[in-house]
Amino acid sequence: MPLLIKMFPCLSDNYGFLVHDSESGQTATIDTPDAGEIMRQAERAGWTLTHIWNTHHHWDHTGGNAAIKDALGVTIIGPKAEAEKIPGIDVTVGEGDAVRLGKYEAKVYDTPAHTLGHIAYHFAGERVIFVGDTLFALGCGRLFEGTPSQMWAAMQRFAALPADTKVYCAHEYTLSNAAFAVTVEPDNPDLLDYIKTAKAKRDKNEPTVPTTIGAEIAANPFMRAGSAERLGEIRAAKDAF
Ligand SMILES: [Zn+2]
Repeated sequence: MPLLIKMFPCLSDNYGFLVHDSESGQTATIDTPDAGEIMRQAERAGWTLTHIWNTHHHWDHTGGNAAIKDALGVTIIGPKAEAEKIPGIDVTVGEGDAVRLGKYEAKVYDTPAHTLGHIAYHFAGERVIFVGDTLFALGCGRLFEGTPSQMWAAMQRFAALPADTKVYCAHEYTLSNAAFAVTVEPDNPDLLDYIKTAKAKRDKNEPTVPTTIGAEIAANPFMRAGSAERLGEIRAAKDAF
């Protein structure tokens, strides 16, 4: 059986993700934007939540930690560098650590920039990465705590992954990112194609997530910035857009 992933919209524009190993029965929720919806979705799938894996401390990623832990007694794993801000955390992880879900293993990458302790979970064998609020379809996270050079380092790191790696970003921001991205690269045919496909999906109320590393390398202005300085300029322009 492959690693099973269930994705669903919650709050205004977040995605919830459940990851399940059928052999061991273990199930992790990646972040906890909405405890009630996450528990309902797990129940509907017939899965019992065993873990919470947090990417960073923001409320729309950890706000459901306490309610889910109280209800189900799950183990909470999260970033070492912001452990004091992660409600109910049991296990702290950082760069180079591995997190297990049954027979599956995710490597932890430090991707500070959006927040200083932000981490990503990479299932290398399954070519799946959960990037939280670091990378978005056609965008990147706001630099609330970190610097352009930290974000550029994260972009380069993601760009080095196999092109067909599926990227699970935590928000549906694609069309608003697209409106900005065309101002950066108005003549990029891959970007124009990407936007056409994304619009068609959103017209049908379908998600544009997951994206792939290859699609982002071809079209995402932040992945394509070329330098930390240029990424900083583009990020500042996006913030004012
Ligand atoms: Zn965030």
